[in-house]
Amino acid sequence: MENCVFCKIISGEIKSNIVYDDEDFVIFPDLNPKAKLHYLAVPKKHFATLAEMDEADSMMLGRILGKIPILSSKLGLENGYRLIINQKGESGNDAGQEVMHLHIHILAGERLEM
Ligand code: 5GP
Ligand code: ZN
Repeated sequence: MENCVFCKIISGEIKSNIVYDDEDFVIFPDLNPKAKLHYLAVPKKHFATLAEMDEADSMMLGRILGKIPILSSKLGLENGYRLIINQKGESGNDAGQEVMHLHIHILAGERLEM
């Protein structure tokens, strides 16, 4: 997708320190970390929100969620982690989703307050 920063990272047009890469998704550190460890898990397929997913996309997202615990020691998540998906709504953006390419924040590396 043109002008999508995450598509550009996935294609290599924008350099990022990709720490995991498979057929479904990539993981790289957030540019502006909100915790000691802050990664983004980003599907290679471009879609903006959960509302746009079809059944195959849901299966793919399930595979991504299943892979994150397997990557625990590689990513330094042994003390636990928090996953966040910010979602823009039909008539507002209370969650503040900034990048309109679905992504899962992985926050870890310290005690996280709510
Ligand atoms: P959102 O608010 O959409 O859930 O989160 C978007 C996240 O993407 C933010 O935490 C922001 O710091 C991160 N981000 C935006 N642009 C870039 C970029 O070019 N590279 C990386 N690594 N992260 C980015
Ligand atoms: Zn994209």
